[in-house]
Amino acid sequence: HEECTMKTVKDYIRTIPDFPHEGIMFRDVTTLFADPRGLRLAIDQLLHPYAGVQVDKIVGLEARGFILGGAIAHQLGKGFVPIRKQGKLPGKTLSQAYTLEYGEAVMEIHEDAIEAGEKVLVVDDLLATGGTAVAGLKLLERLGADVIGCAFVIDLPDLGGRRVLEGLDMPVHCLCSYE
Ligand code: AMP
Repeated sequence: HEECTMKTVKDYIRTIPDFPHEGIMFRDVTTLFADPRGLRLAIDQLLHPYAGVQVDKIVGLEARGFILGGAIAHQLGKGFVPIRKQGKLPGKTLSQAYTLEYGEAVMEIHEDAIEAGEKVLVVDDLLATGGTAVAGLKLLERLGADVIGCAFVIDLPDLGGRRVLEGLDMPVHCLCSYE
């Protein structure tokens, strides 16, 4: 039957055990992005809750958030703004440190990328502890952005990122999850 061949976003995601180190189940979205139906399905579903909602800019988190965010911004006819790892952005930046599993990292945004009061949607491929997204939200808060929500392809609920973001009153939209 035709309906038996309907794939979901999750069907296009590949899991690679023990990458980048032992014990990590790496949820690989390159297989989702490489498939034209998979990519379109993901973009359509990421956009679904924001139909009729005012959004001025899309913010993508390095690196897979750039791929999703670029496609979403194009679809909405809006601009795209990257939040990058330290040292990559050429202009004047704001920096925000955050904790990783091992040590610290720093995310940056161009200080003139967003004007106070602009409505932004934050996009990334995967929500784990929420550390990356929270660092991004702090940068956006410092610019006075009005963040309307955060959208991810994958949620890892055991790692608690959704609870952290919802605790900050941030609406979260995820397309699938892995326990
Ligand atoms: P976190 O800051 O803990 O929410 O981690 C989210 C970031 O780490 C995202 O940018 C993901 O791309 C990446 N990440 C964390 N865990 C995984 C995983 N199991 N598989 C793939 N990417 C992951």
